Amino acid sequence: MIYTGRFAPSPTGPLHFGSLLAALASFLDARHHAGKWLIRIEDVDTPRVVKDANDWILQTLDAHGLEWDDAIVYQSQRLDLYEAHLNQLIDQQKAYPCGCARSELDARNARHLYDGKCRETPPNADARVALRLRSDTIGSEFTDRIQGKQVLLHPRPDDFVLKRRDGYFAYQLAVVIDDHEQQITHIVRGADLLQETFRQRDLQSHFNFQKLEYAHIPLATYANGQKLSKQNLAPAISNNKVVENLCCALKCLGQNPPENMHQANRHEIIDWAVKNWHIEQIPATCVLPNQQET
Ligand SMILES: [Zn+2]
Repeated sequence: MIYTGRFAPSPTGPLHFGSLLAALASFLDARHHAGKWLIRIEDVDTPRVVKDANDWILQTLDAHGLEWDDAIVYQSQRLDLYEAHLNQLIDQQKAYPCGCARSELDARNARHLYDGKCRETPPNADARVALRLRSDTIGSEFTDRIQGKQVLLHPRPDDFVLKRRDGYFAYQLAVVIDDHEQQITHIVRGADLLQETFRQRDLQSHFNFQKLEYAHIPLATYANGQKLSKQNLAPAISNNKVVENLCCALKCLGQNPPENMHQANRHEIIDWAVKNWHIEQIPATCVLPNQQET
């Protein structure tokens, strides 16, 4: 099976430096293994989509020499695929309706780990419902290529949401189906998604999908310890500073580019980085020397 990686951004704003790190790491790991690298736009949560963000993201990837293979996949165009797979789980009684409102879940302390109430007592037929996975496991483990062995043990099965009460498919369902349909073999992404991996692997088992290799790169922080994220307004990547951005990203990823790399062009930098990619050199924390100004 050919190595197939992917970068799967949500079009909720321009790429910031943390997302460039994830894109670059997943691209370099794929190319270093002579693999394919695909782009998937995760716009299944339609209300959060920002107009033009899709174009900004693709322009930034293109400007930085991260060339992708095959046609770009848009989750918003695959709702029939998700519905078909969800129906399969319902038919197999691996999914069930849940009529609990958020306030009820909070009152029972069951928002993040569902308490199974609607497993036992199905909601009224006319209630607005979410669909939840009937999980049959309380614990699992996997080995991350960067973060090492990951172990999860819950007090009860994690019946997470597959389709929301507002009618949108949940991120977990779409991601798992897409990774399977696109024949992804390796996922390299930010450590903010490390915990989601347990749910995705659980769902893969219910569908009898192939298992994937995972590598979660540490979240970038500034030297002062502040995290880089959309929430605290990390600046957008500037497409006018491609060489600086790539050199800085490679240093953050522990790849030790030569001192004169700043004089190279983006293609020479990418070529060097593909040849000299060492995922094991990624440090425990990706520290940015100072605030990247646009
Ligand atoms: Zn419920």
